[in-house]
Amino acid sequence: MAGLVQRNPRFSKLNDDDVRYFEGILGAKNVVQDEDKLVAANIDWMHKYKGSSRLLLQPKTTEQVSQILKYCDSRSLAVVPQGGNTGLVGGSVPVFDEVIVSLSSMNKIISFDKVSGILVCEAGCILENIISFLDNEGFIMPLDLGAKGSCQIGGNVSTNAGGLRLVRYGSLHGNVLGVEAVLANGTVLDMLKTLRKDNTGYDLKHLFIGSEGSLGIVTKVSILTPPKLSSVNVAFLACKDYSSCQKLLQEAKRKLGEILSAFEFLDGQSMNLVLNHLEGARNPLPTLHDYYVLIETTGSDESSDKQKLEAFLLGSMENELISDGVLAQDINQASSFWHLREGISEALMRAGAVYKYDLSIPVEQMYNLVEEMRSRLGNTANVIGYGHLGDSNLHLNISTPQYDDKILSQIEPFVYEWTSKHRGSISAEHGVGLMKANEIFYSKSGETVQLMASIKNLLDPNHILNPYKVLPRSLIS
Ligand code: FAD
Repeated sequence: MAGLVQRNPRFSKLNDDDVRYFEGILGAKNVVQDEDKLVAANIDWMHKYKGSSRLLLQPKTTEQVSQILKYCDSRSLAVVPQGGNTGLVGGSVPVFDEVIVSLSSMNKIISFDKVSGILVCEAGCILENIISFLDNEGFIMPLDLGAKGSCQIGGNVSTNAGGLRLVRYGSLHGNVLGVEAVLANGTVLDMLKTLRKDNTGYDLKHLFIGSEGSLGIVTKVSILTPPKLSSVNVAFLACKDYSSCQKLLQEAKRKLGEILSAFEFLDGQSMNLVLNHLEGARNPLPTLHDYYVLIETTGSDESSDKQKLEAFLLGSMENELISDGVLAQDINQASSFWHLREGISEALMRAGAVYKYDLSIPVEQMYNLVEEMRSRLGNTANVIGYGHLGDSNLHLNISTPQYDDKILSQIEPFVYEWTSKHRGSISAEHGVGLMKANEIFYSKSGETVQLMASIKNLLDPNHILNPYKVLPRSLIS
């Protein structure tokens, strides 16, 4: 998987003294060397990127993380921070023999303030556990995504994950109020504020939101969570063409306004894939269509919210923006609609190899790329388009029976050049990781990338943190 990347000879190789040191601070059972146990941590969710680390460390406290990093820095041992390992850009697994630092054992909720809705927790808390905890308290997480059963809040913050409700609650740059992070030299940065307003100089927590473990290890997080509202409605709709989906979004923003909480899109090819490969998937509509939209509303008044949504749906039918649709009658039906949308990644995995592109592109041009890719690849691949239409975020996925360099050369750099030409981003929400480190210039100016490299040099001068990822190899060696 290392492909064209060479192992950096400046990094030391692990020896028995290193292992003994780690056992001294963590206890032998938290220093994993067993090959069978290392397999899962060395390979990513897509089974596309594979490292050969011989050591997985499972710290339980910030102090232990600090001791690990201080030691690794002094010994020039490269480190990969790992959360739930659901990342999709090869950022969460070693490229070579980097030491894996897993946050899984740091999984405690530290505090929750019911008045402000501010949650403070350790980085290894699984997102779904936080969602259930908050549900019991009458609150919700402003972040939700298909990988919630495994991904961790530290991984979410480190990738600045977007997900299904960003259209309503905004990004983690807005919802995360504070972080505690450990720098490469072991320094603990306590920025775990629980304040909504704090204009005292540079807001350094933002450096750790979305930097994919390249600047430090996030150990604790504080997040602002909104109260749970009583009325949730989900509609699954079909549209005759992409332009109708786009107009429907404009209308939904105007007519549903404050109650709109998700606006998701999938094309007919995505639906076919899900119906063929995902357990329990069922088309809620009597026939197949070329384009689908899932709309969710969340509000506080059941009858008026439903009325508003029904009026919107009726109007959109009359204007022929919607060709068919169904409004969930209960929570089970609503989850079966969500299952279709959230299950696309899993269905793709089951269908074979997948080339994944996560792009921000102005909504009006977004689907042109899917069509251009389809005509480029002909019948050599199944090209599907879906994503968070409400956030102009396209997931362009190309499914083939197995990975094939000839197909890859048809996709890249075309996909990046096209996105750059339309002033989009080559990573809307998944990050850069190993996959796009050398492609970053398609979305960022040379000067900006140079400043990013200077920040990396300042915070991690020996480059031990997540090497070969995020920044281009020409700048960081
Ligand atoms: P990992 O995969 O373990 O790591 C991701 C990156 O963060 C790596 O670079 C790693 O080194 C770093 N990292 C992890 N933990 C820490 C830490 N504590 N400190 C410092 N660095 C750390 N993403 C979206 O944004 N929106 C979606 O809707 C979405 N849907 C998905 C659906 C499926 C089915 C799958 C498999 C993935 C999806 N993803 C989505 C991608 C992925 O789930 C997110 O990127 C998620 O935030 C990763 O969290 P994780 O805990 O698994 O992190």
